[in-house]
Amino acid sequence: MVVTIDGPAGAGKSTVSKSLAQKLGFLYLDTGALYRALAYALREEQVNFEEERELLSFLGEITIELFRKDMGLGVRVRGEEVEDKIRSEEIGALASRISKIPAVRERLLPVQRQASDMGDIIAEGRDMGTVVFPWAEVKFFLDASVEERVRRRVRELIMRGEKEVDQNAIAESIIKRDRQDMERGIAPLKPHPEAIIIDTSYLSVEEVVKNMLSYIKMLRRAD
Ligand code: C5P
Repeated sequence: MVVTIDGPAGAGKSTVSKSLAQKLGFLYLDTGALYRALAYALREEQVNFEEERELLSFLGEITIELFRKDMGLGVRVRGEEVEDKIRSEEIGALASRISKIPAVRERLLPVQRQASDMGDIIAEGRDMGTVVFPWAEVKFFLDASVEERVRRRVRELIMRGEKEVDQNAIAESIIKRDRQDMERGIAPLKPHPEAIIIDTSYLSVEEVVKNMLSYIKMLRRAD
């Protein structure tokens, strides 16, 4: 079974996806981590991604793979696990810039789809319901106000140990990233017509998860 969860940065997708995966015994697929991992590798190797030939040669020879890790799936680039190197705002912003390049999305498409061969999955991202798993049995789209999403991102970065968190810069980055993700020509961020849309601004994680579990049960029964 595939459950998709799309939505903008800070809508609560990751927390909710992890909790749902745990409750259902599904694998958690964080597709943002794949875009971040590519962004990290591009930066490390100083690839000029605006140069088509350079980018295509990088995408052609890089290995990027998912592997089973705890309850979820980790990402390896050139055999190296990159989780602790990809969570900064800077890498998030670079991931958003490269994610509008069709060759980048094409490179990651089969990697993401392979995850569904590894077991039942909760697939989290921007285009899970619309492009990667349009056949998914259950599709969700989580949203929240910009103010709430900024608050959550600030909290998350502080918890991760970042010393200097500039709230205004985070707000700017979130607004910019939303625009970039929604306005891109390929796989823009938008709900699938069948998606269940949940505004999480005034809901706790537990409430969101509870709502989603009841939808999943209902839709499974209807199958
Ligand atoms: O979700 P996360 O913030 O980790 O994603 C980083 C960036 O990767 C997003 O802003 C988005 O541009 C891109 N992304 C995407 N499609 C996905 C997942 C992430 O374009 N399925």
